[in-house]
Amino acid sequence: MSARELLGLMLAAAVAFAIFNLTLQVAANVILPAIDQVLGTGLRSGIIRLGNRPERMIFLGPLLASFIAGLTTVALFGSLYRNAWQKEMESSVDCPHCLSLVPAEATKCAFCGSDLSERDV
Ligand SMILES: [Zn+2]
Repeated sequence: MSARELLGLMLAAAVAFAIFNLTLQVAANVILPAIDQVLGTGLRSGIIRLGNRPERMIFLGPLLASFIAGLTTVALFGSLYRNAWQKEMESSVDCPHCLSLVPAEATKCAFCGSDLSERDV
């Protein structure tokens, strides 16, 4: 992995974390209270008990907020990633020797080392 790819990965992780944190706050403080108010449920303060001891409780509000934030992050980030991937696919071709994906302008395959300078484009 090149330094540029590593930097891109770190940036992508930071963006995904920011999206997750933002949607977590929105889910916990806006969406769940709105659902509770409209439907008259107690999702935000709900507790699932897995036994009689206090450490065996699951707090429903944070669990649901995390779930909503996770789904939103995957949906938003997945759509960003898909667009970037489509752009890369459009500017790439298959190496005729090893079938690896290489940039359309490449004159040498980065995977098998084949000379690509004389192929028809
Ligand atoms: Zn190749």
